Amino acid sequence: MIPSVLPTYSRAPLSFVKGEGSWLIEADGRRFLDLGAGIAVNALGHAHPALVAALTEQAGKLWHVSNLYNIPQQQALADKLVDQTFADTVFFTNSGTESCELAVKMARKYWYDKGQPEKTDIITFEGSFHGRSSAGIAAAGSEKMTKGFGPILPGFIHLPWGDMAALDAAITDTVGAILLEPVQGEGGIRPLPDADLKALRALCDEKGILLILDEVQCGMGRTGKLFAHEWAGITPDIMMVAKGIGGGFPLGAVLATEDAASGMTAGTHGSTYGGNPLACAVGSAVMDIVSDDAFLDGVRARSGLFRQKLEGLVAAHPEIFDSVRGSGLMLGLKCKVTNTDLVKAGYDNLVITVPAADNVIRLLPPLNLSEEEIDEAFNRLDKAAQSLS
Ligand SMILES: *Cc1c(COP(=O)(O)O)cnc(C)c1O
Repeated sequence: MIPSVLPTYSRAPLSFVKGEGSWLIEADGRRFLDLGAGIAVNALGHAHPALVAALTEQAGKLWHVSNLYNIPQQQALADKLVDQTFADTVFFTNSGTESCELAVKMARKYWYDKGQPEKTDIITFEGSFHGRSSAGIAAAGSEKMTKGFGPILPGFIHLPWGDMAALDAAITDTVGAILLEPVQGEGGIRPLPDADLKALRALCDEKGILLILDEVQCGMGRTGKLFAHEWAGITPDIMMVAKGIGGGFPLGAVLATEDAASGMTAGTHGSTYGGNPLACAVGSAVMDIVSDDAFLDGVRARSGLFRQKLEGLVAAHPEIFDSVRGSGLMLGLKCKVTNTDLVKAGYDNLVITVPAADNVIRLLPPLNLSEEEIDEAFNRLDKAAQSLS
């Protein structure tokens, strides 16, 4: 008999009932150090007082109104995002997948309105993840995600990750945009070198096509800058955001320049929930904290410390780990043992990590975890590795 919850996930036998900062408390009372943060969602940990206050205050006033009306909380968050980024305009969604849908529509409408409707193709990269909708799986293109779900949405050209030589040849007259994650998340914490991101921007400028960045996982302070592309000193034309922006409340966004967004006029797109007062009240509270320079300085300092500890862990267990990779507090441990065995050993030692492709375990802790918690993370990962030796 089919379970009452559709069995699309393989779930660990854990049920968390409470969260406190970087800690998750299981129904049986055990306290787990959370280095997964809901897959880079709980950017400020669990039950952060400023987020609880923003949520409860708004909950007592007004939860939801339609986008048929002005929504001041949405306006306030859009203004903050425009103020702090390359973007001139923002559309709010409820998830990364919906942000992907709009990014694709926006790029295609851009060329349609410019009188070049043939430029529908979008170049993407192997190992990428852009969500599980029809456009999202077509964009990623992997057999694992697309098999059985045909016909697959056409208009995506998949290139090997980081293959800059293949790119030049792939940009034909039907290509309108390039879409990529500056740091691949699900693909195994694979950062694109800054020089390649710069070259990509230059290539898009030269060919006159749009650069779309998916910063759903690597954005909102995760790499130690508000957005990961800032490290390369470039800006995209369109950017997808979600995960960390709501700190645990479902919220996403598409940010764009005025030019890139020019096709999206009244009636071309919409969302019932997207940018409702409750979501945007919480998003604003997250943004106020995460966009602060001193906070981002702290993320960089903590990530340096964490990375150093992880290098020590790899050195101490060369038969378990291959290497450390990533950027900021978006870190990956490439394993020599099966990554999911290590994740399970982590559960036994009360530490939460997240598996990724390429036999990597991901460490995506709350951005505000303490130095003591970084020490504790090392100790628990060390014990987990010992248990497999
Ligand atoms: C998680 C993720 C998505 C999809 O976001 P959802 O909120 O699960 O729809 C898209 N792109 C990237 C890079 C992601 O990590």
